[in-house]
Amino acid sequence: MKYVGAHVSTAGGVGNAPLNAAAIGGKAFALFTKNQRQWQAKALSSEEIETFRTNCLRREYGPAQILAHDSYLINLGHPEPETLAKSRAAFLMEMRRCSTLGIRFLNFHPGSHLRLSSEEDALARIAESIDITLAETEGVTAVIENTAGQGSNLGYRFEQLARIMELVRARDRVGICLDTAHSFAAGYDLRTPEAFDRTLTAFDRIVGFRYLRGVHLNDSKAEFGSRVDRHAPIGRGKLGLEPFRLIMNDARFDGIPLILETPESERWAEEIRLLYALIETTSP
Ligand SMILES: [Zn+2]
Ligand SMILES: [Zn+2]
Repeated sequence: MKYVGAHVSTAGGVGNAPLNAAAIGGKAFALFTKNQRQWQAKALSSEEIETFRTNCLRREYGPAQILAHDSYLINLGHPEPETLAKSRAAFLMEMRRCSTLGIRFLNFHPGSHLRLSSEEDALARIAESIDITLAETEGVTAVIENTAGQGSNLGYRFEQLARIMELVRARDRVGICLDTAHSFAAGYDLRTPEAFDRTLTAFDRIVGFRYLRGVHLNDSKAEFGSRVDRHAPIGRGKLGLEPFRLIMNDARFDGIPLILETPESERWAEEIRLLYALIETTSP
């Protein structure tokens, strides 16, 4: 079973996310549990928590269909102690919010060294940040997203993701989210069955499919290997439809959230229908 959905709005309260997801025919959804451009957030009220949980139940979204995304301000690999501490505190708050809402997966970008430290030191700080957070929370998995590698962002090479995983002690509560546009911009081709197979074989060998907890389905406005992060609507970018057809017909992507983060949210319902229509039914 493929759980396709989108990163939906929480305007008016987190409880609106499952409603917005259902309205576009999503079988999964992603959300920010707080304003992603601010450090602070008001604590969730018991009413907000209750509404979210009830709406998830009513619209039949189980924990395997929900992927939270953390704030863009957080940098768990920050080379300066004060900002690193601030990032870790914010990440812990995000984890706790997920825990309260019954969300099991929190997706985040690994972090950047800002050219102020070595890559290895930054990867070690990221792993340490994850361990510190996991030690203080329960029930939520830290899901590391691969990046396009813009600026000094880490996590664009599978080896960097693997290095973080290797350094994390709580290995059972860490996972990976693959973003198709980021992979492509980072130099992992997906455009033909052969390229798709090569990329995923490398992913499996270096990181491991058993750690895959989610996928972001985005076409790319940016060129192959450009290390520029710019999403395009499905089938309208440099990736084209083929990678999405391959994903929709590959059992390794069953049972995890497959989330659209494409521009033009008014097209999401159509994109979800298009993706499901790519599934080839084998005649008996
Ligand atoms: Zn992301
Ligand atoms: Zn993404």
